[in-house]
Amino acid sequence: MTGLSTIYELAAAFRAKQRSAEDITRDCLDRIEAAEPSVHAFVSCDRAAALAHASQLDAARRRGEKIGPLAGVPVAIKDNICTTVGATTCGSQMLEGYQSVYNAHVVDRLEAAGAIVIGKTNLDAFAMGSSTETSHHPTTRNPWDKTCVAGGSSGGSAAAVAAREVPGALGSDTGGSIRQPASYCGVVGLKPTYGRVSRFGLVAFASSLDQIGPIATNVRDVALLLNVIAGQDKCDSTSADGAVPDFESCLERPLQGLRIGISDEYFCEGLHAEVDRAVRAALELYQAEGTELVPIELPHMKYAVACYYIVAPAEASSNLARYDGVHYGYRAAKPEDIVDLYSSSRGEGFCPEVKRRIMLGTYVLSSGYYEQYYLKAMKVRTLIKEDFDNAFRRVDVIASPVAPTTAFRIGEKLDDPLAMYLTDVYTVSANLAGICAISIPCGFDKCGLPIGLQLMGPAFGEEILLAAAHQYQLRTDHHTKLPGCGD
Ligand code: GLN
Repeated sequence: MTGLSTIYELAAAFRAKQRSAEDITRDCLDRIEAAEPSVHAFVSCDRAAALAHASQLDAARRRGEKIGPLAGVPVAIKDNICTTVGATTCGSQMLEGYQSVYNAHVVDRLEAAGAIVIGKTNLDAFAMGSSTETSHHPTTRNPWDKTCVAGGSSGGSAAAVAAREVPGALGSDTGGSIRQPASYCGVVGLKPTYGRVSRFGLVAFASSLDQIGPIATNVRDVALLLNVIAGQDKCDSTSADGAVPDFESCLERPLQGLRIGISDEYFCEGLHAEVDRAVRAALELYQAEGTELVPIELPHMKYAVACYYIVAPAEASSNLARYDGVHYGYRAAKPEDIVDLYSSSRGEGFCPEVKRRIMLGTYVLSSGYYEQYYLKAMKVRTLIKEDFDNAFRRVDVIASPVAPTTAFRIGEKLDDPLAMYLTDVYTVSANLAGICAISIPCGFDKCGLPIGLQLMGPAFGEEILLAAAHQYQLRTDHHTKLPGCGD
């Protein structure tokens, strides 16, 4: 496998008239064609639409029109983000062939910046899962070892970037779905602060946790994508107002004086020794470069997975009520009556994992159990948020592993939902607290599978987070390795 240029290189080459958008797009499409039979990162790719968009950009450049910051850069979009080109399936039979009539806000912004949407990427059904195995489409394979999962739920986006099919992609993160696949695939994934990026046009899973974010091979590219997608949108009342900084110009902030918080809660039972070693080696590097490592306590972190698996299914059960066989997507054939239409359409259209979440969510919201489960989980959520608030009074970022292990084998956890849920043990707390967090490659295990380092920052602290991650990449080369060429 050969390298594909980075987003900043491609954007610069287009701006300097060294490469045409059509040439860049053709290169990507060829890479997709070559990789897809064994990777399955994409669920759809409209070659003609991408090339047509590219030639429009070339014509605009010839006419001397103003060029956007991502002009000529192809990007892939997770298939739970609405696009008017191609279907938006959410990896579910329920939305098979569903055609959105509008673009998600982030897609409009990318296109306004000159990016070329090249296709839609695979995910677990409705973003519920950690491996893309719950998808209605074929499971995405990890480019580093095709017998292993790419992670999830944004496994398609992470694998497409890792296999250098595209230089960048968007994912969504409700409990780790950008960071965990980024870690398993050896790429960079950012979950922005809740409210940093508009969710308009993101198919809702758990609305108080969902956030769209970028995936790319390096931190600078992630910053460039965030520059374009961040900011208030009047169609999403939870998107934050206020000025959006230039995330690229903050990258040079030095490491000296940075305080990194370390908590034992993130280095607990179940953490594989090789992951532990790689993360600790990264921390030693930070320390050698002048950052201070500060022990911190996050006493409620041990409840994060339990809390998440009450809050997220509760919201999902209500969000997914709209799939009734009438308004959207799949409809059962020959229903006997209206009740049968609803129940058969939902029974046939949803996969077992989605049904499990809906049942869990309905249970914890039902009368008599609401106080016992949902209300209690909401209180725990507040305590988790307060743990972070307290910690960020003393430190700038918090470091941890992204996941307890490297990518697992396809099929290994499919029959054991609890084992699957535990892959989220280090990621869900950032969503519950609404803070930002990034996954960056920090090494490889003895099988050559990538290991991810997670850095978490306070709400709207992306500048410091990205700088800390970028400075690490300036001093290491893990992110430059290509599948098939690992350590
Ligand atoms: N793996 C987690 C879940 O299944 C997170 C999913 C996500 O972030 N979309 O809920």
